[in-house]
Amino acid sequence: MIETKNIAVLGSTGSIGTQTLTVIRDDESLRACALTAYSNIKLLKEQIYEFKPGLVCVYLPERAEELEAELRAEGILSHDELPEVVSGMEGLLKAASYEEADTVMVALVGMIGIRPTLEAIKAHKRIALANKETLVCAGHIIMPKLKEENVLLRPVDSEHSAIYQCLMGEEPDSIERIWLTASGGPFRGMKASELKDMKASDALKHPNWSMGSKITIDSSTMVNKALEVMEARWLFDVDIDRITPIIQPKSIIHSMVEFKDGAIKAQLGAPSMLVPIAFSLYAPRRPKLKEEPRLDLSTLKSIEFDMPDMLTFKGLRIGIEAGREGGLMPTIFNAANEEAVVLFLEGRIGFLDIADRIEEAMLRIENTAKPDLPHILETERKARELVRSRA
Ligand code: NDP
Ligand code: MG
Repeated sequence: MIETKNIAVLGSTGSIGTQTLTVIRDDESLRACALTAYSNIKLLKEQIYEFKPGLVCVYLPERAEELEAELRAEGILSHDELPEVVSGMEGLLKAASYEEADTVMVALVGMIGIRPTLEAIKAHKRIALANKETLVCAGHIIMPKLKEENVLLRPVDSEHSAIYQCLMGEEPDSIERIWLTASGGPFRGMKASELKDMKASDALKHPNWSMGSKITIDSSTMVNKALEVMEARWLFDVDIDRITPIIQPKSIIHSMVEFKDGAIKAQLGAPSMLVPIAFSLYAPRRPKLKEEPRLDLSTLKSIEFDMPDMLTFKGLRIGIEAGREGGLMPTIFNAANEEAVVLFLEGRIGFLDIADRIEEAMLRIENTAKPDLPHILETERKARELVRSRA
């Protein structure tokens, strides 16, 4: 198999993006050949000076122009080292299919990742996928396309990386159940009466993981776990009802697979995204990582489990229902959530309103089986509008 060498990092200024660059920085044989951001040109510029990519995309065109002007004015890079600067969806697609790249890390947040992921598949790039929203909304398009184009996709999400690792060397028919672990987030054990006044600053305090703001809010509502159930459903071709979320508060077990003979395999480790990121780039190799997250089993003593409270964390329950219904429903669920999270972060709706808004969108927007991409994107717009119109 061809080894990963040149990586296009989509979303390089985010939590997963910067950690991907840590792995690249620590390995001389890896190169970040293309980088993209939405608007954070300050960090992107530092990354350009360090990694000297051939192509960069800034989603907002005016910020892209600013970046290009600054790069020229500062004169730090030679003429040959100056990257091509592009913008918008067209720019993202260009980065996703950048000729020099053999691998594309999709670390964008939200369903904006669908088109770049499809573009990378069409361009026969190997894919490391962190962007779960893409599979949630368009798994029925992405998975057959991977097969058709004979493209390898490895998950980055820690639970899915764990499941992928547990399944290496196993027959798909042997799977009885996937146990998808969840930390339960910062509000584990609380009831609706305590949750109703929670603010963004409370929800942004995750006990185990430091992540981007959107996924951190999704963890506090447990919508993240619903998205991950749908993500697992596509990645491993297992029915939603055989994917069971289970609380494991310290995030030491990253997920488990139970087989037909009763054997259960688990993948354990310190809660660090560096391991699944590196695995998505190196597998089946496991080189030593410089920033080495280690779990000390000699002092661990115990691992606790609990079942999630589906009544209080309604987002988890209705998300699993959306996955079971399929068609457009996961898109309605996801797009309504993306918009509700923005409103919550802006302090315009309360914590419990997030799941209520999603539920309302699921009740009001019509479902269709096997939607194509234009239909998915049109439904995204409708769901976002509906959530916003009620703010
Ligand atoms: P962040 O918010 O930290 O980073 C998102 C990246 O995407 C940034 O580079 C951002 O640019 C860019 N971006 C955001 N919106 C757009 C847009 N509309 N168009 C183009 N680019 C955009 O997210 P995370 O790194 O936390 O998450 C990325 C994905 O990985 C998500 O799907 C998340 O669910 C998944 N994931 C994350 C984990 C984590 O530990 N963080 C764990 C498991 C999965 P800018 O900086 O300029 O805004
Ligand atoms: Mg996860």
